[in-house]
Amino acid sequence: MRISDNLNTIKSNLPENVTLVAVSKTKPNSDILEAYHAGQRIFGENKIQEMATKWESLPKDIEWHMIGHVQRNKVKYMAEFVSLIHGVDSLKLLKEIEKQAGKYKRRINCLLQIHIAEEDTKFGMNEEELNALLLSEERKSMNHVNIVGLMGMATFTGDEQQIQKEFDYLKKIFDNNKLRFPELEILSMGMSGDYKIAIDAGSNMVRIGSSIFGERNYN
Ligand SMILES: *Cc1c(COP(=O)(O)O)cnc(C)c1O
Repeated sequence: MRISDNLNTIKSNLPENVTLVAVSKTKPNSDILEAYHAGQRIFGENKIQEMATKWESLPKDIEWHMIGHVQRNKVKYMAEFVSLIHGVDSLKLLKEIEKQAGKYKRRINCLLQIHIAEEDTKFGMNEEELNALLLSEERKSMNHVNIVGLMGMATFTGDEQQIQKEFDYLKKIFDNNKLRFPELEILSMGMSGDYKIAIDAGSNMVRIGSSIFGERNYN
């Protein structure tokens, strides 16, 4: 199947309120352009350097999302252009984004990553850490970041009930916090293997790679 066909099939199955992030990590510019010409404008990458290289050479109306774990010392390489950072998991990182975005007089939109999986390998905060960050005086004084939602990744498992339980849990945290912090609008959860479960659980942003571009080859 061609990339544009995959893309159109997925898009036709997404509810209208769900935003599609096409995850193009490891894929060449030619693949991204095929999706671009089929109308896709939001692309997700998990390596800052790779994203910056692609940003330089591809059309400037692409919105680049950083979906991977962010090292503080690399924020400066994306501060000029990144449109949404999904994986913010500490106040320290948020402060660095604030600082680097300030250099470009930008406000960078950020999602706070919540740990919902059973594996300890996945990054993210727990509910207590989330509350502490949202209530912190420091974040109230920030002028160059907007916290616009939450993000989470389910356990990598074939057990759909487990995945559903984890997404339900994140949706509950999202709803609870949205009452006090109405600026939380985006709930980023769901990838190729589990996005249907995620949407049923209330996701409004899905990050889909291999179902659009095919399997990744890391060699
Ligand atoms: C790679 C990646 C995805 C996309 O994964 P697919 O299974 O290829 O859809 C989504 N989210 C994150 C954080 C990723 O790193």
